[in-house]
Amino acid sequence: MNVKNILTNLETKHPGEKEYLQAVHEVLESIESIYNENPQYEAAKIIERLVEPDRVLTFRVTWLDDEGQVHVNLGYRIQFNNAIGPYKGGIRLHPSVNLSILKFLGFEQTFKNALTTLPLGGAKGGSDFNPKGKSDAEIMRFCQAFMLELWRMIGPNTDVPAGDIGTGGREIGYLYGMYKKLQFENTGVLTGKGLNWGGSLVRPEATGFGATYFTNEMLATNNDSFKDKIVCVSGFGNVAWGVALKVTELGGKVVTISGPDGYIYDERGLDADKIEYMLALRASNNDIVSPYADEFPEAQFIAGKKPWEVKCDIAMPSATQNELNGEDAVKLIANGVQYVAEVSNMGCTPEAVEALHKAKIPFGPGKAVNAGGVGVSGLEMSQNAMKLNWTAEEVDAKLHQMMSSIHSACIKYGLQDDGYINYVKGANVAGFIKVADTMLDQGI
Ligand code: GLU
Repeated sequence: MNVKNILTNLETKHPGEKEYLQAVHEVLESIESIYNENPQYEAAKIIERLVEPDRVLTFRVTWLDDEGQVHVNLGYRIQFNNAIGPYKGGIRLHPSVNLSILKFLGFEQTFKNALTTLPLGGAKGGSDFNPKGKSDAEIMRFCQAFMLELWRMIGPNTDVPAGDIGTGGREIGYLYGMYKKLQFENTGVLTGKGLNWGGSLVRPEATGFGATYFTNEMLATNNDSFKDKIVCVSGFGNVAWGVALKVTELGGKVVTISGPDGYIYDERGLDADKIEYMLALRASNNDIVSPYADEFPEAQFIAGKKPWEVKCDIAMPSATQNELNGEDAVKLIANGVQYVAEVSNMGCTPEAVEALHKAKIPFGPGKAVNAGGVGVSGLEMSQNAMKLNWTAEEVDAKLHQMMSSIHSACIKYGLQDDGYINYVKGANVAGFIKVADTMLDQGI
């Protein structure tokens, strides 16, 4: 395989899709040697088939605001790869959403879902709709209009969407309500549903909890633990909240959270009260970082900056793609960071990952670290199919198992001769082998 040629070809076919090319580049680099050692992959044109989504659906979403004004947004669903199971992945509602971002997310999702141990294919969807500042009724009308277009393309054994940035329990409710009217069946087609109507216990916490379990495995591999570790977290949503809760429970001290307006530094750490407050704030559609600092005067609000300038033992970026760059990584390393676990999808730039690898800092990539979210979505699908509910303990035990199996897979394929674990390579190779071998099994 010639990685450079493949990337140049892709760039010519899809100019300007920089996030997508970044994601493909990272995976191809990791799998190059295993690919070259197995000529059956080349013969079946596995790479050419993997880097193009099965299909890209785009549609117009027209909705009315509370003043009766008409708005038009773009809607997307990228059905990336269904080799190992039905398409599965979230719906992102954010003004930055475009084809490149959703293709990178769908591509990543394909490998991430393969790592979960469950039979789930990869997909992603979303819209450039901005939920910030919208009323509940406006969110509802948007979600209904979005589903009116999407419903024919999805199904419980075909494509199962879920939440992502901007799509939480409330949005899943409105989407599901409309789907049910159109399909006239309670198929459980979305995950992240409410507990009363087919949702799974632990799903809201799953991404953050799973990420913390994975990081705990990284620590344990070095005979270390979260006890008394200073942890910097970015983001303020569902994921950052789950991380803060579990890290605190395991004895670590989360000293930062962040939003688009800046970050807060709370030297005393986020205790139960503060996490509770954060929980209430995350339900609002507004930036929460500065209000947090207002409520807890011992917390400092640092406007317009990212938390990576704070001295910490563990950094857990939990906001969005490319939120931690090369300079940030250099700062973290200079300040003595010992571990970096990327909770957001592709949260670190290639320069940041390179700097961490060079400094031999254990670095867990998003597709391994945050796989617990979609993993528990898979468990929600299992419970729906069986028409029963597992207890929180049962779901949590399965999540734990999943994260430790992903960690073992990373060691299996990422352990270097010098003892350093290249988790990026480990996760990419493990995910690739599963998807590629399945594609071989199933023919052209
Ligand atoms: N959006 C989440 C992710 O990036 C969850 C997807 C799902 O549960 O299907 O993995």
